[in-house]
Amino acid sequence: MINNYNTLLKKILLISLISCLSSNRTDADVRKNHTIPWGFYAHKRINQLAIYTLPLPIVTFYKRHLYEIENLAVLPDQRRYILDAEAARHYIDLDHYTIDSIKNTTWKQIEQRVAVDTLTKHGIVVWHIPIVYKRLVRAFTEKDTISIIKLSAEIGHYIGDAHVPLHTTSNYDGQKTGQSGIHGFWESRIPEILKEGLEDFVGVAEFIPSIQHAVWQWVLESNQYVDILLKEEKNIHQKFKSSKKYSFEQKNGILMKNYSLSYSKAYHKALNNQVENRFRLSIKHIGDIWYSAWLEAGQPNLE
Ligand SMILES: [Zn+2]
Repeated sequence: MINNYNTLLKKILLISLISCLSSNRTDADVRKNHTIPWGFYAHKRINQLAIYTLPLPIVTFYKRHLYEIENLAVLPDQRRYILDAEAARHYIDLDHYTIDSIKNTTWKQIEQRVAVDTLTKHGIVVWHIPIVYKRLVRAFTEKDTISIIKLSAEIGHYIGDAHVPLHTTSNYDGQKTGQSGIHGFWESRIPEILKEGLEDFVGVAEFIPSIQHAVWQWVLESNQYVDILLKEEKNIHQKFKSSKKYSFEQKNGILMKNYSLSYSKAYHKALNNQVENRFRLSIKHIGDIWYSAWLEAGQPNLE
């Protein structure tokens, strides 16, 4: 069984790599630091837990491919090193726009109004998710197992990113407010500390009538938390001696500087469950998206 999984995973990775290498590279402003992931741990966990929101009979299909869905969750972040166009798919600088002028637009609508270079520079996650969704519906319609797995894992990644407040602002790492490092602090360090505390059941997947509107809602909601998460970190920073802010920990045999446990816990407490709430909503919405794509494709039998 494990061998079958490994073979399938290798096939998907190979196909993905070939499609990356054969894509046209652009001169897009690749802000690699802007796409620091939720953290590999969180992305994998989010995709895995989304499976348990699904009803019969698709839960059987997803459970059968749990290993690939989990492992491919981090593929979009790995791919950005070889595909320039990838970086923009993970964020959107909402502060660059007047929200009312772009809210609820599709990619087709926005590219008629704003230059593609500008869109790429400021991120396209909100327009990219509905595009991947359409591909997923097609994959379900064609009962194309490899594509269903790959696209499910990838859309899970982008939905995860869309729920991270710092993926919706140009101040993505607190670099404009003297808080560099806050991106990884919020989306990697805190989830790693919380671990089991993040694993509650989040409910049953539901059909989303308009993917486009739903994604816009998620991203705008994420953006509402930007100010408070920056403000709370500033407050905690003032209360802590700098010697207590960081600690050194062994990670994979290497001594690394990281936010200390006490500083991380203080920040987490001040955020009042913000990280868990965004994490849990990511899981629920990934389940909703997979389920909706399957329903829209006519509920194909995947046995
Ligand atoms: Zn990402």
